[in-house]
Amino acid sequence: MISKELARAINDQMVFELYSSYIYLGLSAALEKLKLPGAAHWMRMQVDEELIHANIFYNYLNDQDAEIELGKIDKVSTKVKSAKEAFELALKHERIVTGRINQLCALAMKNSQFATLTFLNFFVTEQVQEERSVQQIIDKLELAENSKEALLFIDKELGLRAAPTVPAAAQTTV
Ligand code: MG
Repeated sequence: MISKELARAINDQMVFELYSSYIYLGLSAALEKLKLPGAAHWMRMQVDEELIHANIFYNYLNDQDAEIELGKIDKVSTKVKSAKEAFELALKHERIVTGRINQLCALAMKNSQFATLTFLNFFVTEQVQEERSVQQIIDKLELAENSKEALLFIDKELGLRAAPTVPAAAQTTV
């Protein structure tokens, strides 16, 4: 059993993960318009990953017999000027997510909710990877600068991103 306060915060994060998937879908649409199908594909894979994250939070709330509340999801943009802008927006968003996960951990600690703290551990390390992978793409796009050839090469590489799978460490235990 978890506290109502913590359950509400986890529920909010579940909705925020759905919002994250919506943001990435918007970025994918924007990159399609820029004729960068590989980068658009990378964002689509990120959409799927965020849906997996939302699902993990949903399962955890059910495991804890907590209330599920599906709140409103804000409208998102489907326009960017460049691939670099798209990935910079992604990094900015992931930093917000990292801050939110840290706040959830702090709340779990404050309430001595150690099962939830263990559950959140997956997301703590996941966020390090999320920020790193997006930063590496930005670094490459910066190296490419105004080279269309380099941009097309990076786009091809981004198109190879595999579909995400549900991580074993985050699967429901019940
Ligand atoms: Mg996420």
